[in-house]
Amino acid sequence: MASTTEPLDLYDIALLISYEYTLAKPEFRGARLIDVTSRDKLFPMLPGWNEGIPEWRVIPGQSREAYLFDKTIPNTSSEPDSPSNLLWEKMFPGDNIPFLRNGQPAAVSLLSPRELETIFYTSRNFNACGQTTGVLWRVLDMYSKDQRIRIRTTTGKMFTTTVDRRFFQRLILHRPKKLTVIVAKVHDSATEESVWFTGAKASMNHMTIGFFAEHENKVSVVLDLSSMQFGELGRGLKSNGMFALESTTQYHERLKTLAGNVEHIADYRYTTEQGKATPEWAKDVSRRVKERWDRRDTDPWCGHCGAPSTVGKPLKKCMRCLKVWYCDAQHQKVNWQFHKQYCSGQLEVMIAQEAAARDESKIIHYHHLVVE
Ligand SMILES: [Zn+2]
Ligand SMILES: [Zn+2]
Repeated sequence: MASTTEPLDLYDIALLISYEYTLAKPEFRGARLIDVTSRDKLFPMLPGWNEGIPEWRVIPGQSREAYLFDKTIPNTSSEPDSPSNLLWEKMFPGDNIPFLRNGQPAAVSLLSPRELETIFYTSRNFNACGQTTGVLWRVLDMYSKDQRIRIRTTTGKMFTTTVDRRFFQRLILHRPKKLTVIVAKVHDSATEESVWFTGAKASMNHMTIGFFAEHENKVSVVLDLSSMQFGELGRGLKSNGMFALESTTQYHERLKTLAGNVEHIADYRYTTEQGKATPEWAKDVSRRVKERWDRRDTDPWCGHCGAPSTVGKPLKKCMRCLKVWYCDAQHQKVNWQFHKQYCSGQLEVMIAQEAAARDESKIIHYHHLVVE
């Protein structure tokens, strides 16, 4: 059990999990987006795409989106996965795009970089709540119970607690407000096809991890690592990032946008059944996340997407605080509404204030004992 005096940082750990999990998820490893349709953008999909998918239907009060992926690249490919190479066009400029050789102009070419990013994370967070919460649970279990962890929400609240002050939270979302259908086809194969749904049933399970401060006895901050399965609505408040890390109140407001009614089923600890259900590749994600956190001083990551520096594409520092790194100016810009709450020494002020409050409570406690 490792224990370090410097606290872990939940926001950064979540960034690393988001990056490593989406990169490793086998169902979508190397998947290229070939078509998209939604209620808002009535793109025509490739003819016949929804044959045999009765779940693709109009339900009052529900918006709909469908994505068609080409899953020809095998999982073992070392081809990098990222929102910027989600499209075949990037690999076959101009012509010879699989599936579209004789087709209409691809709707996907009209998507903005932000929409591509949303779709990339939406697909990779499908059915991910159990696995991503399991990954985080395992990472935190690699430290001793009294290991301190700093919790910075995306809206600028900070407190420090210990890693054992956490619960799994199980929710049921009734009457989901959005239906998402994802079809992944293998090029030149009539039979190899996988279909996934979010929101196709009257209710769906969801899972998050809640944290509480030392003086509290109930969860005050929620981390939803797979919030992006709900698309644009799943982005972090202010951070525009790929997970939700916010107060319980804010998270409940968010849930109202996702479902007609939400039932909070239980707060509980890890169970051995869950441990057994975790696939090996997800356990590897936990190990990689801890390794990257432990190397944080020499190998930083992007404050928006969690990507490391790569050869030929080094990360760049925030020039105000020199503490946070980004892939490029775009990721810095997207993250600024979040980061400006902690930049330029503000996090250090919060840390000092919290330490002072802690000392004060000790003095009061001591005084109290003396009087008795
Ligand atoms: Zn980035
Ligand atoms: Zn900064």
